[in-house]
Amino acid sequence: MRFHTCTCGQPVFFNNSLCIACGRAVGFDPDARQIRGLDVVGDGVFQYLPPDSPSSVSPTRYRFCENLQACGCNWLIPAQAEAPPLCLSCQSTRVLPDLTRPDNEERWSRLEAAKRRLLYTLLDLHLWGSHSHLPAGLPLVFDFLESLPSEAPVLTGHDSGVITLNVQEADDLLRETIRLQMREPYRSLLGHFRHESGHYYWERLIQGSARLEGFRALFGDETADYAAALQRHYQQGPPPGWEAIHISAYAAAHPWEDWAETWAHYLHMQDTQETAEAAGCYSDLTPPQIDPALLSEEGIPPTPEMALFAERISRWVALTTLVNELTRSMGQPDVYPFAPSAQVLKKLFFIDRLLSEVG
Ligand SMILES: [Zn+2]
Ligand SMILES: [Zn+2]
Ligand SMILES: [Zn+2]
Repeated sequence: MRFHTCTCGQPVFFNNSLCIACGRAVGFDPDARQIRGLDVVGDGVFQYLPPDSPSSVSPTRYRFCENLQACGCNWLIPAQAEAPPLCLSCQSTRVLPDLTRPDNEERWSRLEAAKRRLLYTLLDLHLWGSHSHLPAGLPLVFDFLESLPSEAPVLTGHDSGVITLNVQEADDLLRETIRLQMREPYRSLLGHFRHESGHYYWERLIQGSARLEGFRALFGDETADYAAALQRHYQQGPPPGWEAIHISAYAAAHPWEDWAETWAHYLHMQDTQETAEAAGCYSDLTPPQIDPALLSEEGIPPTPEMALFAERISRWVALTTLVNELTRSMGQPDVYPFAPSAQVLKKLFFIDRLLSEVG
């Protein structure tokens, strides 16, 4: 995440709808991929004028997404009368739980906030929104459902462009309980969104394409029986030595899950490294030197792209070591409970190449 500033120059968070320094309304323009400090025009219309603009520049006019009050969405829409009342992100939510039931409004707000963070990264990677480089195809939409005692449990997952999330995952107590039961070191709402988006983009970018062969060489044959693979994973756990091949235990269940876990990890890296770079975090770090040869086949010299990616991973290792030390200083568990192996770095590099090809 880049650092966003209000028109007054003060930093504002991505989810803010008010600048606490100057009192201006602030909102996110997904088309410009920037937070805008806004001045009231009247009747729900706001305008943005970049600081120190010459008088010839006319301001951009916006309205807030209709869900600002309901779920705290701070995304902006053009002020034109024909513009839809909901922002790009809220439009992608297809089904909501019964909001008259206790807690569902708060859960919905949390889910939308995590979803906007996912979509921000997808916007930046040109994978979603008006600047997407993908050909038109199956849209990405979201169903937020509540598990009710009288009905079958809602399972978080992806099916043909629809990402379903069990809204109870927004409850810290329940999510933490499942995390411990499943022996997962990391479980978060944003992690769910990133993982499920991986299944969607597998269908958009890998399935039926010339990239399938490269995918299979690294992640395995996805035609293996999926239901049987998951059942085996839940009964027996991951095979011994999975750490040398996969980013997480769950990734060992099936090549599709390996892909989705690695994809989510790439998006974690993308967002966190952008934040660290914006904050100038790297200047005082001494990264270990990751050998680019780890990314190439034995006996074949690494390409310049491999050298660049190895450098990026070197900075990543230094950064995640620092953040873990910081959270340990506060008596908290590691914020980055992962140790990517050489094979995992190859998989992340595959995604990196794919995204630079697409974006
Ligand atoms: Zn301000
Ligand atoms: Zn919205
Ligand atoms: Zn999955």
